[in-house]
Amino acid sequence: MVDYEVAVVGAGPVGLAFAGWLAQQESIKPEQIAVFDSKPLAVAQNDPRVLAISESTRQSLLPLGFPAHAQAITQIHVSEKGRLGQVRMSSQELGLEALGWTLRYGDLMTCLAHSVQSLGVQIFRPKVVLPPQSQPLRAYEQLQLEDGSTLKAYLRVDAEGGVYGQQEQRDVVVDYSQYALVSEVKLRFDGLSQGFMSGGLAFERFCPSGPLALLPLMETHSNCASTASYSLVWCASHEIIQRLSQVSEDEFFAELEALFSRRFRVIQMKSRQTFRLGLNYRQNLIKGRCVYSGNAAQILHPVAGQGLNLGLRDAYVLASLLSNTSNSLVNLQDTLAQFNLTRKFDRQAVARASDLLVRLFSNENKFLGCGRQAALCVMESLPWLRRQFAQAMLFGFKT
Ligand SMILES: Cc1cc2nc3c(=O)[nH]c(=O)nc-3n(C[C@H](O)[C@H](O)[C@H](O)COP(=O)(O)OP(=O)(O)OC[C@H]3O[C@@H](n4cnc5c(N)ncnc54)[C@H](O)[C@@H]3O)c2cc1C
Repeated sequence: MVDYEVAVVGAGPVGLAFAGWLAQQESIKPEQIAVFDSKPLAVAQNDPRVLAISESTRQSLLPLGFPAHAQAITQIHVSEKGRLGQVRMSSQELGLEALGWTLRYGDLMTCLAHSVQSLGVQIFRPKVVLPPQSQPLRAYEQLQLEDGSTLKAYLRVDAEGGVYGQQEQRDVVVDYSQYALVSEVKLRFDGLSQGFMSGGLAFERFCPSGPLALLPLMETHSNCASTASYSLVWCASHEIIQRLSQVSEDEFFAELEALFSRRFRVIQMKSRQTFRLGLNYRQNLIKGRCVYSGNAAQILHPVAGQGLNLGLRDAYVLASLLSNTSNSLVNLQDTLAQFNLTRKFDRQAVARASDLLVRLFSNENKFLGCGRQAALCVMESLPWLRRQFAQAMLFGFKT
């Protein structure tokens, strides 16, 4: 006899969304799903990350109550410092309400935790669950908690996430020798630059030191038509990021404005936080009755804002496959094998695409620079190519 049918380790966005989707199916009762997290919810609510959520991800999260105050990204402006090529993608040309949505990690967590709990799923925190043991396949999975207690479940879903550098190395590891500095900034667009002042415009700027992203944030109370709030993700070498996290605000503002060719003035900034960046990828998602999902399966460079979107697709597919199992979870080896196979192509393609973007654009080679400029120009002049690229980034890669 098991304690729960499904035990989810990690109440991050992937673990919670998985539990919520599963609880909404009829095959498993919500009270048979338990979620464990090592930290109180308040820690996640204070996470400094702002996430770009694709439109397809938002659609899948709507039944769990996607927050109404997310900011729509209606256009993306991609350019390279010191070169002419640029690409503008818009939701209009794809016939979508938005290309994506920006949301603070903490707001997503508050919403998901509330929604999952109200469905009847039990969330236990703070509870640290120890890594799965390599044990012969049994009729159930035995989970060991740090406090010495144990429990049994038919399925253990490892959604313990984490960030690069905190985890053990997996099958494919690429250390980009880069860090991301994350902050929230207020920008002012004056004169000619006011053309950039359309709510919902995101910037991706490739610089020799690494990529920068500015994601629009929902204004809570703005009374100035020429200012806008943005989430900043500035990727560069450890030395540069260390220096940037210590320089005065004025120096910081000046460097950021210069990298964007002074299209705007920076007038305010919140605290600066840093993350080490790399690729850490698991080939096989199954270990006995344990399945890895989200950042527990793959950690990507945030250059294309794909990590969570990909992780949530893992979780959605797993919940759907489990709801289709005709038998109880006692026999789920075929379902798990099917999950591993079904997710292979999308996971590999997104991981490779993110990796390629970092390698191509964090490179000062002259010939590559000309190639990049040509590629951006070609993409700008070929709408169908732009659409193909955007489709893959928004909806994932399909075989
Ligand atoms: C700077 C930066 C910007 C990013 N921007 C984007 C973006 O714009 N779009 C996007 O899609 N992705 C983005 N990402 C990636 C995204 O943040 C991650 O992919 C996402 O948070 C993964 O969610 P998760 O639930 O798998 O893991 P996490 O968010 O790491 O959550 C894991 C949870 O598990 C808990 N846990 C850990 N160990 C244990 C244990 N032993 N027992 C119990 N609980 C445990 C943790 O406390 C945590 O609550 C970005 C990443 C970075 C670093």
